[in-house]
Amino acid sequence: MRADLKQEFVKQYGKQATETYFSPGRVNLIGEHIDYNGGLVMPCAITFGSYLLVSPNNENIFRFKSLNFSEQAEVHLNAEHKKVGEFWYNYPVGVIAHFLKDGKKLQGLDMLFYGDIPIGSGLSSSASIEVVTAFALNDLFTTDYNRLELVKLSQSVENKFIGVNCGIMDQFAVAFGEKDKALMLNCDTLDYQAVDSNLGDYLLAIINTNKPRKLAESKYNERVQECQTALAALKQALDINYLCDIDSQTFEQYKHLITDATVQARAKHVVEENDRVKLAAKALSGNNLTEFGQLMYASHQSLRDLYEVSGVELDTVVDYAKTNPDVAGARMTGAGFGGCAIALVKKEGFDNFSKAVAAYYTEKIGYAPSVYASLIGDGVGVLNEVVKS
Ligand code: ADP
Ligand code: MG
Repeated sequence: MRADLKQEFVKQYGKQATETYFSPGRVNLIGEHIDYNGGLVMPCAITFGSYLLVSPNNENIFRFKSLNFSEQAEVHLNAEHKKVGEFWYNYPVGVIAHFLKDGKKLQGLDMLFYGDIPIGSGLSSSASIEVVTAFALNDLFTTDYNRLELVKLSQSVENKFIGVNCGIMDQFAVAFGEKDKALMLNCDTLDYQAVDSNLGDYLLAIINTNKPRKLAESKYNERVQECQTALAALKQALDINYLCDIDSQTFEQYKHLITDATVQARAKHVVEENDRVKLAAKALSGNNLTEFGQLMYASHQSLRDLYEVSGVELDTVVDYAKTNPDVAGARMTGAGFGGCAIALVKKEGFDNFSKAVAAYYTEKIGYAPSVYASLIGDGVGVLNEVVKS
């Protein structure tokens, strides 16, 4: 974290912050495009995230400042809380509005945000800022939401107040993340298992393609539709609610029912990816990072060839990763068509990886990626030591 955050708060508000909170960003380690098919995802919290420093005021005013954005705002506790333009502070305002709608008693607060997550790159800085705000309010004003309620509340803010139709995985991962654990999660039932994921000599490299994700939304909707079509075809013979209710062996027996070759390929990805998540959990908990890496490569190949949501930028990163002996595995992460790739890279080889992947990518694509080294970190919480230091 930035060493000067506490001083920044004093500079901005003329008094000390009374509390500091942190909420991470997240990556999905494996299990892509299966959350809407009743399957398992496997996100983890990363060591980049959002910091929120606060100090109560006696004015019934919420003040919003962020070191990442120049716009600032003041909102009265009793005002009508509505989304204003596309300003960043809509996220915390939305969280406050939700608390108030639930009849929770709040008081005025001076707030300073700072994030070291690359913003707008698919690492979920939005979920991070929602959850850190919700967690902080709940802690300061003892409003008695449990962690899962904070997750659902934050997702609702993103869906209804901000107007982004995201699932629950992101908020869940940033709230429930644990150091050195991956979260194997069913996004429908919210059943989850924290899987031991000691990366040992490896770290998680995050490679942002820096490509705007323009196609993502329309293609996403198209894929959802294709999965519905595949499910309807399989239902002629199988009593299932989701594609992920079957494994790949069963799929092979019944796939002829899906007559459209493209739709069949989409379904094949979904079913096999869901199986891969279970294998990945075994590999990680058994410290078999080589096996986990191979599953990452297989996931990428399936997303590229069967699901067709990758792109030359993400493929270029993964192509390079395969040539580097310090890399155990790599794949695109998130919805695709840009955004980030992740790679499991030997710690001692990271500097070399970072330079080499950037050079290879820039040569092929014409602009540079951004490369970060992360570990699997903790979920949202209080950073007391910062206040005391
Ligand atoms: P992603 O979640 O992939 O990073 P989004 O577009 O969903 O991208 O969310 C990014 C938005 O979240 C930013 O444009 C901003 O409004 C808000 N945000 C994220 N981090 C911060 C921060 N540190 N300070 C203020 N606003 C933030
Ligand atoms: Mg987001």
